[in-house]
Amino acid sequence: MNYDAIIVGSGHNGLACAVHLAKQGWKVGVFERNKVAGGAVQTREVTLTVFRHDLFAINLGLFAGSPFMRTHGEALTRHGLAFAGAIDCFATPFPDGTWFGVSKDVEKNIARAASFSAADAETWREMSNKFGRDAPHIFALLGSPMPSRDLLSIGWKAWRAQGLPWVIDTLRLLVSSPRAFLDENFESDKIKATLAAWGLHLDFSPDIAGGALFPYLEAMADQSFGMALGQGGADVMIKALSGYLKELGGEIHLDAEVDRIDRTNGRATGVTLKDGRQFQARRAVIANALPQIVFGKMLPGGSGNAEADRRMKSVRPGPGTMMIHVACDNLPGWTAGPELQRFAYVHLAPSLDMMSRTYNEALAGFLPGEPVVVVGQPTAIDPNRAPQGKHILWIQVRVLPAVIRGDAAGKIEGKDWAEVKEAYADRLMAILESYAPGFAKKILGRAVFSPLDLERENPNLLGGDNLGGSHHLRQNFLFRPTWPGAGVGAGSGFMLARMLT
Ligand SMILES: Cc1cc2nc3c(=O)[nH]c(=O)nc-3n(C[C@H](O)[C@H](O)[C@H](O)COP(=O)(O)OP(=O)(O)OC[C@H]3O[C@@H](n4cnc5c(N)ncnc54)[C@H](O)[C@@H]3O)c2cc1C
Repeated sequence: MNYDAIIVGSGHNGLACAVHLAKQGWKVGVFERNKVAGGAVQTREVTLTVFRHDLFAINLGLFAGSPFMRTHGEALTRHGLAFAGAIDCFATPFPDGTWFGVSKDVEKNIARAASFSAADAETWREMSNKFGRDAPHIFALLGSPMPSRDLLSIGWKAWRAQGLPWVIDTLRLLVSSPRAFLDENFESDKIKATLAAWGLHLDFSPDIAGGALFPYLEAMADQSFGMALGQGGADVMIKALSGYLKELGGEIHLDAEVDRIDRTNGRATGVTLKDGRQFQARRAVIANALPQIVFGKMLPGGSGNAEADRRMKSVRPGPGTMMIHVACDNLPGWTAGPELQRFAYVHLAPSLDMMSRTYNEALAGFLPGEPVVVVGQPTAIDPNRAPQGKHILWIQVRVLPAVIRGDAAGKIEGKDWAEVKEAYADRLMAILESYAPGFAKKILGRAVFSPLDLERENPNLLGGDNLGGSHHLRQNFLFRPTWPGAGVGAGSGFMLARMLT
């Protein structure tokens, strides 16, 4: 079979790329090793029947606000794409029974900040106003290919619109650590901790340079637009992408693992599958896979450029993550207040120092004594994911080692994830219990995915890395082969398709 383009992998980036190429008239074939499309966007009944869990990504805010959605949103909606919007986005409870949180309501957030510090409430208002001016330029930067001439024009436009001090301040934000940015702007440790938790969604503990941007953007963007979950499950997005691709004449081959990219006179001309079948591509072979996999495995004998091979194979993965999916009778009864049951995410990460410690322990190969726990409460937003009156939790652990050298708490003996994952999940659930006593009795079922289980599900999740490679400055922006990197914004797939057409 001949295609114009072959795409290896049906992650949302592969599908977004395929859709845009097919819309421009290309004949596209997508080849996926798994039995279902979607990569790190999957919804499955992994605890009990009728409890639908987003196994990996759950927050589709990046997709909902993406340039890809602006271009193809109408057709995707026709193919069933729908979002469930969260008004109450994220919150952090503290051991003393207080909490801070961000909702899609600036005055509410300011009032919450004022309960900790009048000065912080004022800062929050100023930051909210400033975000309106920052956002178009920052999102233009994040949505441009790297490197490209567009960058110069974005920089020039920002300079002319906002002036040189703004450009310098923004560059300073881009290289700041979360702690430096938060210390400069806020006096309440609780507000700082609530925002800093977003750094840990990537691999930025409070003292890593380059980590300030995400906490700032997520807080301000959630306040402006809310968060978006997929209606009924994140896979609604994959089904819509797949359905639209098929309407455009594209083909998706499932259970079709690509073994290697075939070349003729140095040009990629097709793929050979693990089962020996071969397919040709007239114009492009596109890999929705990590650089380490493409350059380390799919191009036997190398790409022909030894330096490029070396660089691509040395891309550093981010730290690992772990998922615990819970089916339950009710949401946790948060000691800090019943309002917390309305939030999409509750972060159990009460201080910057605790976040630094857990990050350093994980990087040194230890199971953190007190990990950062992200408790997602999807049924608070979209009750249809569970039988009436019942709930699910989406619990993510940040951050963990792929290879275990020991336990920072000195309690778990094993070093094999298969052996220790349930014991480690118990540690997590004990932390949750300390913030919401009695929750353990409400649990109906749980499924635990260790970092290595994640990699088994999808080789792009190398060692449980959910970022497709560390986002630290040395491999971000101009230095990132898979820009703009982690998240479901369809950024790299859409950028590439536009560059090709
Ligand atoms: C636990 C977890 C939680 C997350 N939460 C969020 C969130 O809430 N919001 C958010 O924005 N982002 C989140 N992310 C990140 C986000 O899911 C990913 O960055 C994004 O989905 C990556 O998409 P992709 O298309 O680039 O790659 P992937 O989704 O990784 O897709 C790659 C595909 O390629 C396939 N493949 C690999 N090798 C081969 C081969 N040889 N042959 C054929 N197929 C192959 C894989 O099976 C996979 O289907 C999360 C990630 C994880 C793991």
